[in-house]
Amino acid sequence: MLSDRPPSAGAAAADLSRTHALTALRGDYPVFAPGEVWLVGAGPGDPGLLTLDALAALLQADVVVHDALVDARVLALARTGAQLQFAGKRGGKPSIAQEDICMQLVSHARRGLRVLRLKGGDPFVFGRGGEEMLALAAAGVPFRVVPGVTAGLAGLAGAGIPATMRGVNQAIILATGHDPDEGGDLDWSALARTRQPIVLYMGLRNLEKIAQALMRGGLPASTPAAVIASATLADQQVIASSLDRIASDAHAAHIAAPAMVVIGEIVRTRRQLLDASAHATAAAPRSACEG
Ligand code: SAH
Repeated sequence: MLSDRPPSAGAAAADLSRTHALTALRGDYPVFAPGEVWLVGAGPGDPGLLTLDALAALLQADVVVHDALVDARVLALARTGAQLQFAGKRGGKPSIAQEDICMQLVSHARRGLRVLRLKGGDPFVFGRGGEEMLALAAAGVPFRVVPGVTAGLAGLAGAGIPATMRGVNQAIILATGHDPDEGGDLDWSALARTRQPIVLYMGLRNLEKIAQALMRGGLPASTPAAVIASATLADQQVIASSLDRIASDAHAAHIAAPAMVVIGEIVRTRRQLLDASAHATAAAPRSACEG
């Protein structure tokens, strides 16, 4: 699927002012050479969480090969005349084969284009960036990697759940709840025994099964759990519950993808935060604090 950002005088002026802004903020930004591929993380959604180097990539790329999770406002930052190419999954339909994406990146690069491979979150966190990097290396195509803010961590932060909290956890597990392509299931009992919080990507569909497996592995049914949907976006939704109820609560609330699941004691912090904020508001109205 291809689309062009149509050139117009206004758009060209906007490109120029973005480039000036980038230079002011970043100084010398990396130059995108023709024939290179950049594997770039676009962050979890909110364009405010883009990196300056992701912006540099958008302002220089000839073609932007992006997945479904990249926000339209981020794509709108691509320079005028850049070609946008969708290469992702949509609504459970079969996705473009990974090999085809790799081949396209290589062939665009060999045609001398500046190829931006733009992925939601971080390219190397359940983003297949590793496979693409290896394919580029094998083809002898020069590439650069620009990390992004991964949805798991941004989603937690946005929901008032610290990824680590002194005295609560010493590790955090990022896991996929759904990866039929890779086959094999995780040893959920082993993860349960760590007593460390688990952040599930793509975990909504199999949540009931995973919750059951974690409880069989010894994780108490009362373990706090939350689902964070559309993290960092205007329609962000947070459902906080317990391990035994989280799947049905998320279902009842009609939670839709993209959504993260987090299971563990760190989730309690959100409740503490809400209570503390409510208390602070009741005890000390804003005007009193501002005085
Ligand atoms: N590379 C990405 C993850 C890709 S896997 C990253 O680092 O964030 C896709 C999964 O990421 C989704 O199924 C969902 O679990 C999660 N995800 C991505 N964006 C999200 C968002 N804005 N809100 C909640 N979950 C999100």
